Amino acid sequence: GGFQSMGLSFPVYKGVMKKGYKVPTPIQRKTIPVILDGKDVVAMARTGSGKTAAFLVPMFEKLKAPQAQTGARALILTPTRELALQTMKFTKELGKFTRLKTALILGGDRFADLVIIGTPGRLMHVITDMNLKLNSVEYVVFDEADRLFEMGFAEQLQEIIRRLPDTRQTLLFSATLPKLLVEFARAGLTEPVLIRL
Ligand code: AMP
Repeated sequence: GGFQSMGLSFPVYKGVMKKGYKVPTPIQRKTIPVILDGKDVVAMARTGSGKTAAFLVPMFEKLKAPQAQTGARALILTPTRELALQTMKFTKELGKFTRLKTALILGGDRFADLVIIGTPGRLMHVITDMNLKLNSVEYVVFDEADRLFEMGFAEQLQEIIRRLPDTRQTLLFSATLPKLLVEFARAGLTEPVLIRL
């Protein structure tokens, strides 16, 4: 199964081709169809495995219909600002042919079709100081989730989850799955599919 057999729409497929990807990596082959199917996912994947595209490709596909209201549509939480910046650049490149816009967490955004990316600490600041609402979010990614916890974001993550609508699709990508993370996934994800290589 290559990318062409995944049933991707043309703007999404074109982004993948533009990046020069010939075949999906193993983690992409396993996760993309499950995410496209609408399932929550816990995926064990390290940096270098192609994990970022594994959650971005299906995100573009899931959010291809225009948004009816304004407000952020997707939230990607990263342990560091560096990773957030890197992921934003990647989202812009891979999503070049989609309508989605990407921003680091800035606050007060009234744009439609917006994907916001950042650290939990920064996001909580913006929620509190600028009254950012998360009630329009449809797609949530906890990237490098083990590091999110190692960096002490547990409390903020719980706060953020409380503010998200129940109807969201939630994905957790992590190199390791300590007990704490399994409990977090149990509480924050709905019947997640566990994917490991
Ligand atoms: P990541 O694990 O998300 O940090 O990605 C590691 C590197 O693999 C990045 O440079 C990606 O652009 C690249 N990559 C992701 N998916 C593919 C693919 N299917 N084929 C070739 N390279 C890829």
